[in-house]
Amino acid sequence: MRKQINNMLKLLNIILAVLLSWQSYTAMADNSLNAIRYWPSIDYSRITFESPQPIDYSMFSLDHPKRLVIDLKGVQANSALQNLCDKINAGGDPWISKLRFATNRPKVLRLVMELRDDVKPTSFSLQPVGDYAYRLVMDIYPGNATTSTAFHNNVTAEANPIPVSDTNSSHQIENIVPIQANPHGADNVSTTDEPTLAKLLKTPPEDLNRRHQHILITHPITIVIDPGHGGEDPGAHGQGGTLEKNVTLAIARRVAAKLNAINNVHALLTRNDDVFIPLAERVNKARRWDADLFVSIHADAYITPDAHGSSVFTLSEHGASSAAARWLAKSENEADLVGGVNVGVKDRDLAKTLLDLSQTATNNDSRHLAHNVLDQLSEICQLHHDGVEQAGFAVLKAPDIPSILVETAFISNPEEEKRLTDVNYQDHLASAIVSGIQHYFASNPATARAKLAKQP
Ligand SMILES: [Zn+2]
Repeated sequence: MRKQINNMLKLLNIILAVLLSWQSYTAMADNSLNAIRYWPSIDYSRITFESPQPIDYSMFSLDHPKRLVIDLKGVQANSALQNLCDKINAGGDPWISKLRFATNRPKVLRLVMELRDDVKPTSFSLQPVGDYAYRLVMDIYPGNATTSTAFHNNVTAEANPIPVSDTNSSHQIENIVPIQANPHGADNVSTTDEPTLAKLLKTPPEDLNRRHQHILITHPITIVIDPGHGGEDPGAHGQGGTLEKNVTLAIARRVAAKLNAINNVHALLTRNDDVFIPLAERVNKARRWDADLFVSIHADAYITPDAHGSSVFTLSEHGASSAAARWLAKSENEADLVGGVNVGVKDRDLAKTLLDLSQTATNNDSRHLAHNVLDQLSEICQLHHDGVEQAGFAVLKAPDIPSILVETAFISNPEEEKRLTDVNYQDHLASAIVSGIQHYFASNPATARAKLAKQP
C-alpha cells in the first residue's frame, strides 16, 4: 500500500514538473510584436505593445538618473521597436527623454526609459478586443498632476500625434487641423468650398452667428468640452477612412475656442491630444475643474449607410428612449474596452458621490441644455430624431453637472462623413453648439451646480 502511495506521489511530481516546465516554456516561447503604438501627451504618455500571445514582462525603477526598466520575455526586437526609440529620442515626449533596448539575457529584451521628471508608471495587459490582439500597455503619468490643468487652459495648443508602426492601417492617425482662438470674438471661417457648403446648410452661418450676438453671459461659467475617443480608441470609422476621434477633437477645439471668445466663459477640453482618456476620468476632470456644463462631442455610426442627422442625448439610468439609443450608448461605453483601462484602479470617489447626490436638478438642466443645442443644430442640419433622446452613457454621469452628448452626424453615412471632415462644416457645427449653450444660459442663468451648492 505504502509503495503504491509512493509511486502515486512520484507520478504526481512528474506531472507537476512537466506542467511547470511547459508553463515556463510557453512563457519563454517566441512571441512577436505585431505593432507598437505610441501616444505621447501632456496628460500621460502611453506605449502599447500588441502581440499574438500575452507578453510576460517585469518592470522596475532606477534613480540617478531616473529610469524605468521593462523586461519583455520571449519577444524579439524589430523595426517597430527601433522606430519607437527614434520617435522618443527625437525629444517630443513630455515625460520620457530617451529610450534604448538590448538583449539582457537569452530571450529577454530589456527596454530602458530615461525620464524627464518624477513619473507614476503603470502597466497592464488587455485581452483581444475588436481589431486588437493581446496588448501590453505602459502608461507614464506625471508624478506632479498640476501641469495637466495648466496645459488645458490653453485650448489652442497643437496636437502631437505620432504613429509609430502599425500593420493595421485603420489605426493610423490622420492629420488634425489645429485652430487658433480668436480674441475678438469673430469666427475664422475660410471661404473655400463655401458654395457647396451653403447648399447643405438650412440657415446661412453668418445669419446664425449675427442672430445670437446679443446673448450675454453675466457671470463666470466653466464649460468642459469632451472630444470623444482618442489614442488607442479610434471610435467609429467612416467608409472613406475618417476616424471619429479626429473629427471629435477638431470640432471640440472649435467649440472651446468660440466659447473662450465669449465674455465670462472659460472652456476646457478633456483632451487636446490624440490620447485615450477613460470615461470616468473625463467626468472626474469636469468635476475637478468645477464645470458648470459638460458637452461630449461624438459622431454616430450605424450598420446601414443611409442613417443620417444630428442627435443630442442626456443620461437615462432607467432605460433608453429607443432601442437605437440603447445600442448607441452601449457602443460608446465600449470606449474603455478598446481604449484600454487599468481595471485594477477603481474610482471610489465618483461612485460615492453618485450615491450621495440627487441627480434630479441636474437631469432637468441637462434636458434643457440638450433642447437648446438641438434647436440650434436644426437650423444648420437635419436631425436624426425630432426630440432629445436618453440613454445610459457612462460619460454623462456627473451627478452635479448638466451634461449632454452630441452626435454631430453619422460618420457611417458617406455624405455626412465628407461633411464631418470639411473644416467649414466643423465650424458651423461648433457655432450651432455654442449658440445652443448661449440660449441655455439666457433662459436658465442659475445652473444645477449653483442650486446644489445652495442646498443645506
Ligand atoms: Zn463616439
